[in-house]
Parts: sequence; structure tokens; C-alpha cells
Amino acid sequence: MFLPGRLKRPRDSRTELFFASIRVELRAPCAATPAPSKWLLKTTTMPPKHHNYLLGIDIGGTKIAGGIVDASTGAVLLQERVATLAADGGAAVLARALSLAARLRNAARSQDIGEPAGVGVGAGGQIDPETGVVVAATDVLPGWAGTRLRDAFEERLGLPARVDNDVNALAAGECRWGAAQSARNVVFLALGTGVGGALIVNGRLHHGARGAGGELGHLVVVPDGPPCTCGGNGCLEQYASGPALLARFHALGGDPAITHGTPLADLAAREPNGPAARAIAETGKWLGLSLVSLANVFGPDRFVIGGGLASLGDRLLDPARRVLTARALPGVRSVPILPAALGTSASIVGAAALALEITGD
Ligand SMILES: [Zn+2]
Repeated sequence: MFLPGRLKRPRDSRTELFFASIRVELRAPCAATPAPSKWLLKTTTMPPKHHNYLLGIDIGGTKIAGGIVDASTGAVLLQERVATLAADGGAAVLARALSLAARLRNAARSQDIGEPAGVGVGAGGQIDPETGVVVAATDVLPGWAGTRLRDAFEERLGLPARVDNDVNALAAGECRWGAAQSARNVVFLALGTGVGGALIVNGRLHHGARGAGGELGHLVVVPDGPPCTCGGNGCLEQYASGPALLARFHALGGDPAITHGTPLADLAAREPNGPAARAIAETGKWLGLSLVSLANVFGPDRFVIGGGLASLGDRLLDPARRVLTARALPGVRSVPILPAALGTSASIVGAAALALEITGD
């Protein structure tokens, strides 16, 4: 899923990275699940230098991004982005992603960072994390379904690989290094061109059968609402995505010449009762309505809201908080609703966090 406008979090300190005595505890992205995986062993002694770094790769519909990530802090040391050129087909996209990963690995070697401990790959589509295969994908990535993603990365790089859906990767990153640190039960929503979702249950990503779970954007909020990309009607994606916000802005009398959501935050600040502010507030109410159901079902420690719309901050989230307080069951009325914290490198950092995700073997 394409998630425009992520917030930037500038992080890079080579001095710190090379001279700090880093104690690595490689474990699941949510801190409270300490079981070791088969290839990333928890250690309490100074590990070999190369165990401190991970390779994260994000394969999206418009770009492929990758980076070398500090396993202790989530800082991105090296990164590179290339166009996906999705129309070339799944095999070409995979080849491009593998080349990017190999370049980053080689760059890490040549710059004395060393060998990454593993590679995490977040990608669009339904991904089965157990088999590492793309089960299904939309036309955003034609020919992507059936790709043996994990095997391809392991064979090309000679590193253990973990693959998952891109929104699950974002959630894993927020759990490990972002807004959901130390939380065991988290509902993550990415509000962008579409609405993506991820569930962390008892410190683990919840995948459902063959990676089909967590599609919170297709929670039905209005049974006879607008048609959705999934073939249904009235899904949350039709009420709390970027296009939905823009359509609401226009319906409330907003300038029809504005065809992108970016100016709405400034407009709302200038006119607190204008169409931009009202459209954002209404979007927040719809978001809040879905969070009521999710809170009652999952009882999360917190909600984390990412994607481009998260940059609207409290103007979007306060109306959602008010709906949650008014309508959720007493035990979950005050669940915090927080914006994602990992910024523009979130997809790379999240993919790297997947490499710390426990396989449960
Ligand atoms: Zn839908």
C-alpha cells in the first residue's frame, strides 16, 4: 500500500554506532515477547559486530526502499530507493528488489559496518509469513502473486529472511522502536491512499490464515455505503482514507481546484470552521467509530495511527478520541490513540523489525 506523507524522524549517528558498546537482545518487535527465534539468538554478552545490523527492504507499488538498520536503536545507517516499475511484472520487481538488497549489503561490507544478521522484507499484497510466498496481490503489483519472496532473498543474500505484508512491517517497527514500544496489544491503522491495518496480539503480529488477517480498512462501517475496492460497500477505507477526506472537503464546499490532501492541514489552521477543518473532524469521527469496535473486540493497550493522514495530528485524532470515550465499553474508553512515530523511513525500519519477529518454531 502506498502511504504518502510520512513524518520524518532524523536519526543517524555514526559515531554512536561505531563506539557505543551495544548489547543486543534480538526478540519480537513488541518488547514483552522474549522467546528466541531459530536464527536470531538472544544474547546478553557483546555479540559479534555484524550482529548489530539488519537489512530492511520495503517493496511498494511505486518505489522499493531499503536500508541498513541498527538493531538496537532502529536508526537507518544506509538507505537507497528505486522505482518499482510495477508494470514490468512480478519477476522484474523481485529482481530489482534483490539487486537493491545486494547493493546495500555490499555497501555495508565496504563501509566496515559488516554483515547484517538478517533481512526483513515488507511488501504489498497478502503474504504468508510461514511460507514466505505472496498469496495474493492487487493490480498495483501485477504478476506479484505466487512470488517466493523469502526463498529468493535467502538464496540471493545467504542471509535468513522474514517477509510480511507492508502494513504489518510498519506495525512491527512501531512496536519495536516507535509509538507502540512496550505495548503487548496494539491496533495499527495506516491511513493513506487506502487504509491498511495490523494487529499485535499478546506481543505477536496476528496474521490469520495464510496472512489474510488484519485488513482493518475493510471493516464495514456503513452497510449500504459507497462501493469499495474490495468489492464490498461502506468499508472504513471509504471514510478515513486520503481520497475520502478530499471528497468530503469538496462536498463541504472546499476549493475544487485542490486535488491533493496536503494543503488541508494549513487550510484547517487558517479557518477552524471552514470545509478543511470540518472534513478532517468528520474523518476523525469515522475513524473513532471504527476504533470503538476494535477497542471492544481486541482490548488494545493503544492504537497507533500511521500513513499520510497521521500528519494531521490532534485535529484528526481528537474527534476520534471523543467518539471512543463516548461509545466504547468502560474498560477500553481511555485507550490512547497515538500518531505513528517512525517518520519517512518507517517502511525500511519496519521491514528490519520483521527480521526480529519471532517465527514461533
Ligand atoms: Zn473494502
